[in-house]
Amino acid sequence: MPDVPRLLQEEGLDALEYEAVRWGPKPQISQELAQKLGTAAKENDVQLSLHGSYYINLSGKRDIVEASKRRLIASAIAADWMGAYVMVFHTGFYGRFEKDFAFKTCVDALKDVSAQMRDRGLRVKLGPETMGRKFQVGSLEEILTINQEVEDTQLVVDWAHLHALHQGSLKKTEDFRAIAEKVEQRLGTEAMKSMHCHFSKIEFNSLGEKKHHTLDEERYGPDFRMLAEVIADFQMHPTMICETPILDVDARKMKETLKQVLESRRPKS
Ligand SMILES: [Zn+2]
Repeated sequence: MPDVPRLLQEEGLDALEYEAVRWGPKPQISQELAQKLGTAAKENDVQLSLHGSYYINLSGKRDIVEASKRRLIASAIAADWMGAYVMVFHTGFYGRFEKDFAFKTCVDALKDVSAQMRDRGLRVKLGPETMGRKFQVGSLEEILTINQEVEDTQLVVDWAHLHALHQGSLKKTEDFRAIAEKVEQRLGTEAMKSMHCHFSKIEFNSLGEKKHHTLDEERYGPDFRMLAEVIADFQMHPTMICETPILDVDARKMKETLKQVLESRRPKS
């Protein structure tokens, strides 16, 4: 595994999201291996992030929330060993609770996790992600509010999830631009420019996200070129994680598309 950053660099890629998505209440990587990965990432100029456990619900009953907090802390400890800059995670589900109550439970839990991380001296940021299904906590509005109310957070925008949750809402470049503008209004210019992004094409039904698809599948959106236009317009420098079924192949395509867009803007001499 410590070879991965070098392999990515050879492919021309410079970001890696380590998947800790099946972890329980303890880190499932040794400190030694995590540190080796971190060192290799630094040596190869690869930006590391960590995707925390899927088994988290910060809006559930009290015992479930407490167990979820322990899982987040375990992921944060390992992320810190690696030197990952953000720990991405899914906050949970509304379940039988009223939406406002479920969300408040989540924010309170995250304030506690953030305080515990500070007490332990963990430097990694909390990165709750925009979610793609109607029953999941994590609309853009909610994620922006968490970023405003909880300390040591990093904005994580999954564009495919936004597209799926809102039934195919990202159709034009303006639709992407409107989201960047909303982020800027709420969190400021630097938070907008440095957002952590997930991207893929996506299939959805009336409840939202169904399946991630590759960039070449014409019948699904959203279109990465439109996001690339907005990245160029706003001079953003996001970390972009590809989540299609062919991770590195599509990641290279995205990088190439962004390069083309940026080059087309350069004044000709
Ligand atoms: Zn995710």
